[in-house]
Amino acid sequence: MPEKCIFLDIDNTLYSAGTGISAAMGKKIHEYFVNFGFDEAEATELHLKYYTQYGLALRGLIMHHNVDPVDFDKKCDGSLPLEDLIKPNPRLRTLISDIDRTKASVWALTNAYRPHAERVLRILNVDDLIDGLIFCDYQQPNFVCKPDAQYYHQALAKAQVSDPSNCYFVDDSRLNVKAARALGWGHVAHFCETGLVHVEGGKVKEISGDRQVEAMSGIDVITDLEELRKIWPEVFISLS
Ligand SMILES: [Mg+2]
Repeated sequence: MPEKCIFLDIDNTLYSAGTGISAAMGKKIHEYFVNFGFDEAEATELHLKYYTQYGLALRGLIMHHNVDPVDFDKKCDGSLPLEDLIKPNPRLRTLISDIDRTKASVWALTNAYRPHAERVLRILNVDDLIDGLIFCDYQQPNFVCKPDAQYYHQALAKAQVSDPSNCYFVDDSRLNVKAARALGWGHVAHFCETGLVHVEGGKVKEISGDRQVEAMSGIDVITDLEELRKIWPEVFISLS
């Protein structure tokens, strides 16, 4: 088994925030709160509060309102028209294919539940290039998600990585990459499509990062996944 392990976040990392998927997801989650019985203002407030507090709005809904996570997943991520929003991505496929598998295995690591993660990977046409999937198991009571330390510990155990310095991780969330760095993950990149917007906790946010500030925490900021070839040359097949 290769010593190194690359973990790729899925949503807003393997596809661009420009697809509008985060906005569509935000809308579905808001509708879920409203259909559950909250008025518009409460729905907006609780969506943001739970997202900020627990990393996922769903965790607040489970903890405080006893929501069935599988029902939530079906009505939110499961009902997104993903086939209309993303398509097979040959450039991404080539990038992942150019990883040297004698040196590194490639895992996808997401806060989504398995069906959504698998669906995105399949539509992008990279599912067969992924060795394993770390997802939030909505069937487990008290499941953990990024950026909980426990989530990262479970990822290492599942991918059978004993030394976190052998981990390579790219994610569009600064909080998620910071958490990985704090746990000693060796190579961490913040995918940051500066200038685009995405929706987090129901709020529209302009995407921004600061290369200098993040570099001080050992985090690389990239605006294009192709930059991984430059910052992680040791895990790519040498083309020269
Ligand atoms: Mg993401």
